Amino acid sequence: MELEKEIQRYSKLNGYPIDVYEPVVCSCGCSELQLYSDDDEGGAIALCTECGSEIDIENSKSYMEDPVQNLCGCDNDRLKLGVGKSYYSDSREVRWVYVGCHCGKCNLVGVYVDWKET
Ligand SMILES: [Zn+2]
Ligand SMILES: [Zn+2]
Repeated sequence: MELEKEIQRYSKLNGYPIDVYEPVVCSCGCSELQLYSDDDEGGAIALCTECGSEIDIENSKSYMEDPVQNLCGCDNDRLKLGVGKSYYSDSREVRWVYVGCHCGKCNLVGVYVDWKET
């Protein structure tokens, strides 16, 4: 899938290529989500546009200090999200997290926020 490829490309350039990728889907089954993130502190949550549930991505919510809503360049805020994770080579500990979006309106994909796990 397009978004997974983009996160793979981005993460390679970043020096910590992803080992796993998973789409973010609400427990209600909806995958059209609004993304709020803090690129400085490294954290992101998603809000389901169907049921309003909040999804705490990689338990990062508590690290966010100044979350902003991420919009596509076309102003669409209902995005399909995917998370890629890079592990330390000797363990299953997460080293780096990447959150990417796919816009169903203009088809743009991109990594919107990424952070190093500390
Ligand atoms: Zn939902
Ligand atoms: Zn768009």
